[in-house]
Amino acid sequence: MKTSRLISLAALLSLLLLPGCSHCNRKGDSLYQASTIDALLVGIYDGSTSFTDLRRNGDFGLGTFDALDGEMIGLDGAFYQAKADGTVLPVADTARTPFAVVKFFAPETTLSLAATPDLGSLMQQLDALLPTPNYFYALKIEGTFPVIKIRSVPAQQKPYPGLAEAASRQTVFQFQAIPGTIVGFRTPDFAKGINLPGYHFHFISTDRNIGGHLLDCRIDTARLSLDKAVELHLALPENSEFSRGKLGRDHGRDLEKAER
Ligand SMILES: [Zn+2]
Repeated sequence: MKTSRLISLAALLSLLLLPGCSHCNRKGDSLYQASTIDALLVGIYDGSTSFTDLRRNGDFGLGTFDALDGEMIGLDGAFYQAKADGTVLPVADTARTPFAVVKFFAPETTLSLAATPDLGSLMQQLDALLPTPNYFYALKIEGTFPVIKIRSVPAQQKPYPGLAEAASRQTVFQFQAIPGTIVGFRTPDFAKGINLPGYHFHFISTDRNIGGHLLDCRIDTARLSLDKAVELHLALPENSEFSRGKLGRDHGRDLEKAER
């Protein structure tokens, strides 16, 4: 009896003295991700993670919805669904996602961006600003954008097509002089398969009436906030779709078709 009490006391102490754990640090430099980009690429679209779970793990992020029904934008603790018909709706806690990345946004750096004619040159500017490409970053870009080109994808029917085919049915919208926020992440190349390597951006207008996956943009003046992440919590779907999925192949070409 005495020995077991001693053991449990020792266990308790070791827990209390542990320097860090993923749960303790979740509000700091940790990303929380539902499923993987490879799973999405092969058509695993059954929503596995609820928005209640996402909210517990971040107030900023992007992703999609059950059956690939639109583009998700998380900003300042609110989550939005940008649908292929152009509407933007608030997301219910009970909604589920097959792929999302969130973080509690706490930028270390905020600075002004130089004017850029397109998304490619914006990415080059960002690459030059990042201290290293070897960490994950959450990025927020606020401004009035002279040009914004976004897309959204309609809900898919089973049997689900792969992401490249689903994205071929996307609706593309282009706007001018739109105030809003670009929400995004940069994933290191070594994390290919888990998330989209490089930049992935979604956009939402300040009035929350326009949103989607960012295909292109022009910037005159904008403010960048940069938040480095050194931890990744990956929540894999516990369903038969994911269990049976043919994962682990090189999906590089499909990725380019689907997300660029
Ligand atoms: Zn996207």
